[in-house]
Amino acid sequence: MEVESAECECCELREDCTRGYILGVKADFGGRWLCGLCSEAVRDEAAKLGRKRGGGGGMEEALRDHMSFCAKCRKNPAFRVADGMRQMLLRRRSK
Ligand SMILES: [Zn+2]
Repeated sequence: MEVESAECECCELREDCTRGYILGVKADFGGRWLCGLCSEAVRDEAAKLGRKRGGGGGMEEALRDHMSFCAKCRKNPAFRVADGMRQMLLRRRSK
């Protein structure tokens, strides 16, 4: 299996993944590769947006929201991205 290094478009985390996995993630997110944490957060948000509208979709919007969230985290060195995301996911799950 061919393994490549992919960089998350949101938090810039690098992961070594198989080519098939990278292509699968890119297909889900309009050609962008997201790490496990980010893709989970975006899928979660997109599902919520889809439910709110009573239909599918919401992926682009969820992706935009999450990317601006990650950009904010990167600008603030006191705020660690991984921690912030974990808290965000926990908060969402507890709702
Ligand atoms: Zn990420």
